[in-house]
Amino acid sequence: MTMLTATRPLDRVADFPAIPAGWAYLDTAATAQKPQPVIDAIARGYGETYATVHRGVYQRSADMTLAYEAARRRVAGFIGGQSDECVFVRGATEAINLVAHSWAAPRRQPGDRVLLSQLEHHSNIVPWQMAGYEVDVVPLTADHCIDLDAMAAMIGPQHKLVALAHVSNVLGSVLDVQRAAEIAHSVGATILIDGCQAVPRLPVDVAALGCDFYVFSGHKLYGPTGIGVLWGRADLLEQMPPYQGGGSMIDKVSFARTTYAPPPTRFEAGTPHIVGALGLHAAIDYVEEIGLAAIHAHETALVREAREALGRINSVRLFGPEDSAGIVSFEVGGVHPHDVGTILDEAKVAIRAGHHCAQPLMEALGAEATARASFGVYNGLQDIEALVRGIERVTRIFG
Ligand code: PMP
Repeated sequence: MTMLTATRPLDRVADFPAIPAGWAYLDTAATAQKPQPVIDAIARGYGETYATVHRGVYQRSADMTLAYEAARRRVAGFIGGQSDECVFVRGATEAINLVAHSWAAPRRQPGDRVLLSQLEHHSNIVPWQMAGYEVDVVPLTADHCIDLDAMAAMIGPQHKLVALAHVSNVLGSVLDVQRAAEIAHSVGATILIDGCQAVPRLPVDVAALGCDFYVFSGHKLYGPTGIGVLWGRADLLEQMPPYQGGGSMIDKVSFARTTYAPPPTRFEAGTPHIVGALGLHAAIDYVEEIGLAAIHAHETALVREAREALGRINSVRLFGPEDSAGIVSFEVGGVHPHDVGTILDEAKVAIRAGHHCAQPLMEALGAEATARASFGVYNGLQDIEALVRGIERVTRIFG
């Protein structure tokens, strides 16, 4: 194997107790490993400071309420929004379902359509269908980015909503959100951005991006599972009916009539994932301490190395653009990606193999499935070397 050129090391693997020495974890796009400060925040939340929020009259609960709301402010600061525009949800999937149910479904008129792209995750396709919409699909460019020229040509007043991934979970292609938002708004459409794969690797400022809704999951951002964020423009959230009914989301309840709390509380029925919010707060602190610019530079360098090294192997076909963000999808000619994944696992390299919850994209790529390596702050050149050694072994076994 050719020597790989040096990339700027972040050297963060020591922060991650669940990554043993010699294990190349290349599945961050599915879920990120957790750094010690996040694990500590969760342990403190349950082991020292635990109580419910918003209801208790005792000091511990008042303190926990302050910590929960501080987490919301931290999220808002992280993405450039206001606190009361940030709704805690279970994850991106729930956030999109919330918008589909509370914003899209009640507004649907005959002939209304939703505009998606060819590379969307199933969670950014199915909820719109369930809300009763027909979908139109923006195609991809030759290098597998969402084709915004095509989008501009095909969008029309029938499109009530545009919903696009900021970064593709399969290809790593990065969307020019600002331009997509301008195109959407030019026909009066509302635009939702699925930021799942963007927030762990790019600085995000929802105000500068000009989108209307932005969603992400905490567990891909080095935080806990079961917590995520729906950011929505205040005036949009204000107009939306609740998604679920129950405790906390009300103003006044009687058997004759119930009135609802203002956003974001209106959308947080029931006891929330209190400690999840604390863990997400710690995750954002962790990521911002390293700096998203540094993370982006690091992952970009890793992607470049991986693409170059894999590209030198004859039977490997790479997907996605050269400058993809933190994610490289590929196939090894004649070998099913599951076999690639199994052989790599024997070599202590963890990748994802499958359709990545993006079956329409697989169809467009002409692949049943792909192998996907995705990077995080704990990865280094040694992981790419292990990946490439593993792929070389795959080609020897199947060659
Ligand atoms: N969108 C994208 C682009 C994703 O990568 C994922 C997770 N694979 C989701 C949405 C759904 O996220 P979650 O399963 O955390 O709700």
